Amino acid sequence: KIYCDNAATTALDPEVIDAIIPYLSEDYGNPSSTHWAGRKAKEGVESARRTVAGLLGANPGEIYFTSGATEANNLALTGAIKAYEISHVITSRIEHKAVLQTLRQHEKEGDIEISYVRLDERGNVDTYHLENLLRANPQSLISLMHANNEIGNITNIEAISKLAKRYDAIFHSDTTQTIGKVVFDLSDLEIDFIVGSAHKFHGPKGVGFLYINKKHKIAPQIHGGGQEKGQRGGTENVIGIVGLARALEVACKNHEESQAKVGKLKQYLISKLAISGIEGVCYNGESRSSENSLPNVVSVSFTCLPGGNIVELLDEAGIAVSGGSACSSLGTSHVIAALPCQSEKENVRFSFSKFNTFKEVDQIVETLAGIYGSVRVARQGALQ
Ligand code: PLP
Repeated sequence: KIYCDNAATTALDPEVIDAIIPYLSEDYGNPSSTHWAGRKAKEGVESARRTVAGLLGANPGEIYFTSGATEANNLALTGAIKAYEISHVITSRIEHKAVLQTLRQHEKEGDIEISYVRLDERGNVDTYHLENLLRANPQSLISLMHANNEIGNITNIEAISKLAKRYDAIFHSDTTQTIGKVVFDLSDLEIDFIVGSAHKFHGPKGVGFLYINKKHKIAPQIHGGGQEKGQRGGTENVIGIVGLARALEVACKNHEESQAKVGKLKQYLISKLAISGIEGVCYNGESRSSENSLPNVVSVSFTCLPGGNIVELLDEAGIAVSGGSACSSLGTSHVIAALPCQSEKENVRFSFSKFNTFKEVDQIVETLAGIYGSVRVARQGALQ
């Protein structure tokens, strides 16, 4: 079996498993309890907070643990809209649904108006249009993702943060796909909110974080026992939080090596496809690039292969990839549909991790070539 869907989720790193084992057994206290067991658990959570903050160039007080990036995005957007009575939000049509649906709900309830920034033919933010939108609506909330989970495009968040500052706007970026892959120094970046999710960088599922720049406040959305400095009630997921911090530590420690490896796997897939004999291979967004795109993501449309079932045919051969994102079913990607030069065919997303191999890429391309071969034979038979 081959797992090539690491933008959907990743395998737990063995070092993460080692780090969480004590919290699965003896260190089971509630971090809010004041006795020895509680203190031990609290130290696990607070040490994780210091680790995450240190690795991102933030202060520990700026990191809030959540159940994942969906909740962190909801908390940042709803929390900021309510705390600052924001009435205008600028976003793009290729954001993750965790952002788009949250904003559309606020729009439906009459809280905000949404402007969608124009994208170029490859799905990159048109910064001139963004500036025009900001000129007309200063003090907006901007929500633009750092890297797109379906096509891999990387957005220049440094440039956007400068624009945001110029127009007194608040800038939230969904950084779920770049945390653990791209080096961050938040002390150097004028950004107000970012989010992360442990299972995207070899940590456990169901745990993430929200970074809130210390100059900001939010309106809490989960009320309860005052955990996370009153910003997010509920007993902390100690096991997950410890795993998240360890996963980020491992990702940052081995950053250059693992990113170079996935980058080579990506370029190897692209070069193998080029000589595979498969016709009509089209790359979506900046997928082909090694600079403007995530090093581990390749989004392809196969215009000469049958639409709607390539992901299924690969699955039958034991190869796990996805059509767009894990949350968008086959061929119905809102991201591909929003690209000015959208492909009419099903898109297939290959996404690598440090655990993939070149041999696996060979097998993937051989399987695709086999599918292509049988389609050609069937077509020729139909013509005879
Ligand atoms: N944002 C992006 C860009 C993602 O890729 C994902 C994961 O699919 C999410 C948000 C949601 O993350 P989570 O699974 O932690 O809720």
